[in-house]
Amino acid sequence: MTGQAGIHPREYDVVVVGAGFSGICAVNRFRDLGLSVRALEAADAVGGTWRWNRYPGARCDIESIEYSYSFSEDIQQEWVWTETLPCQPEIEAYLNFVVDRLDLRKLIQASTEVVSMVFDEDNDRWLLTTATGETFRAPYVVAATGILSAPLDPDIPGKERYGGVSLSTARYPDDGFDYAGKRVGVIGTGSTGVQAVPVIADAAAHLWVFQRSAAYTLPSNARPFVPGELDALKADYAAIRAAQRAAHVGAARISAFSVMVEVYSRPALLTATPEERQAAVEERGVAGALYWSDVFTDMDANAIARELYGEAIARIVHDPATAAALVPTYPFGCKRPIIDLGYYEAFNRDNVSLVDLRASPIVEITESGIRTEAGEVDLDVIVFATGFDAVTGALSAIEVRGCGGLVLGDVWRDAGAESYLGLQVAGFPNLFLVQGPGSPSLASNFVTVLEDSIDWIATCLADLRAGGYSRIEALPAAQAEWTALTTSLVEGSVLLDPSCNSWWNGGNVPGKKRRYLSYVGGVPEYRKHCIAVAEDGYRGFALSTPG
Ligand code: NAP
Repeated sequence: MTGQAGIHPREYDVVVVGAGFSGICAVNRFRDLGLSVRALEAADAVGGTWRWNRYPGARCDIESIEYSYSFSEDIQQEWVWTETLPCQPEIEAYLNFVVDRLDLRKLIQASTEVVSMVFDEDNDRWLLTTATGETFRAPYVVAATGILSAPLDPDIPGKERYGGVSLSTARYPDDGFDYAGKRVGVIGTGSTGVQAVPVIADAAAHLWVFQRSAAYTLPSNARPFVPGELDALKADYAAIRAAQRAAHVGAARISAFSVMVEVYSRPALLTATPEERQAAVEERGVAGALYWSDVFTDMDANAIARELYGEAIARIVHDPATAAALVPTYPFGCKRPIIDLGYYEAFNRDNVSLVDLRASPIVEITESGIRTEAGEVDLDVIVFATGFDAVTGALSAIEVRGCGGLVLGDVWRDAGAESYLGLQVAGFPNLFLVQGPGSPSLASNFVTVLEDSIDWIATCLADLRAGGYSRIEALPAAQAEWTALTTSLVEGSVLLDPSCNSWWNGGNVPGKKRRYLSYVGGVPEYRKHCIAVAEDGYRGFALSTPG
């Protein structure tokens, strides 16, 4: 049999690594181009992030009709979303529907973890090896490895000796977990923890929320569609997709990113009277505290917004000490916006306690629970909602060897996460990234961006074939220029605030070079730029012919 260790590798025109949103889209696009393609997926089924993150309360914070593929009119008309903001099981079911509807399953090999990818410079071919020793060879590889797919294992001492149940939200058991009667600790209060807390609180005997950094979170508008609503939206799909493509964040309707675009049309906080500020909080709660035009551009305004935010929390959370501990100490806007369903309200339950790790950090995990400087909490279950080594983590975990033996993980570790257009890294020819560092996907609807990127890659592959080229490679100067541009766009902004450790800037991973990992110039501008590069003969890339 071919493909096994020591025998001939299986040959394809293109290998796609990953079968989540990006990988599924890529396989379909390349197959339609007439290329032989195979996707390799480490999980036992398709879905990527939406396969792994099956924790209670998991839900997208972008509307379902925009957080979905636009490339097939049939699919967008046939699939039935039941809620405005889709929950994890429905997104996973949607992705499986797409795979079957387009007959892609035979092109996707699950339970296949790629462990190394080596570029053969003499033949312009990538050789991929899996954990079981299977090998695949292709001139082109598309890394659809996801931006939030490498979970962070927090280095808390004693984890291994804990005798209770340890759960990771990012590797959650397939058949769920029954929290009834259990004493549960959740570590982490990012988007994941904030979503899981109210749902676990409903089931557990007692829930302790271990909070290192408090979250800014806005109430979600998730709700079931009313009868006829989805049909009306589908009838208007062309206009909805056009607006989505034209939107700065790749989503024109309400999403977690609404605040990032909507604030600019609001009055300024610095010039608002005390009465106007109070009225905003009274009328709109936490949103009233944050929706002001100057919160992202003026740190004094941002500080006032934080105070107002504290007042808004105090109106929801009855216990004053808990309410005070839930107020963030870092500026609003430097982390990805979070939306929630009943997060603050959960702290009014008798069976929920906040453990403020700013006041008393975790010392260790013991055989029976978590010990902080304030004492030990006995727990039957610990849920780790501790985030990801985002954007670069999944590819860095694979040994990716480019020209001259360069290893991608080392390059990103030493020089920081760079790429040209988020699409390629200098020194790694014929390896395309979907949503690499410097793409706009972190701070936008990533489905919009991935469709653009895969279109661009497909066009590029067709152009290379037509031109008789066997190699395309980002030039270091173009990469440096793109990195300088993406960096300049956020300089002096709240996004680089030194007090803020976020997956957006790499600050959440010990030792990772801090750099804002995204392009904030907007999805339409990015699309225009990438298309112009291609039309300009792939400006910033070197193209070469065999031999
Ligand atoms: P995250 O935002 O990075 O949050 C991780 C949390 O774990 C933080 O509160 C962090 O505290 C805490 N933490 C990490 N290590 C710790 C330690 N050793 N001790 C105590 N606390 C520790 O990760 P996430 O919540 O998984 O979210 C990541 C991204 O996934 C989101 O920003 C979003 O893009 C996406 N997501 C989206 C949704 C949605 O659509 N609604 C839901 C879930 C996730 P510090 O902040 O102090 O480091």
